Amino acid sequence: MEALSFSELLPCPFCGQDVKEQDFLDTLYPSGIYWRDDDEHGRHYVCRSISPDNPCYQLVCHGCDASVSGDSMDETAIKWNTRTPRLQKSEEVAP
Ligand SMILES: [Zn+2]
Repeated sequence: MEALSFSELLPCPFCGQDVKEQDFLDTLYPSGIYWRDDDEHGRHYVCRSISPDNPCYQLVCHGCDASVSGDSMDETAIKWNTRTPRLQKSEEVAP
């Protein structure tokens, strides 16, 4: 997966907020959810990190609180820029 720099983020599709103008650490940050990948369960999500779990990230618009989540910083940024129609404000990370 290609990396995507913060400066390449597109404006919010809902309210037009330029998320690049927001404070980076308060815009794209670990969501508090982690994922694991193992033979028994495949990729699944947990709420506590027991190393070496991988943090999920979320990107939040300060204009309207729209957000997207991903399994890495890059994936989250790419999702933000991709904007498939099913990405809605209410969509949340799978439990
Ligand atoms: Zn917005």
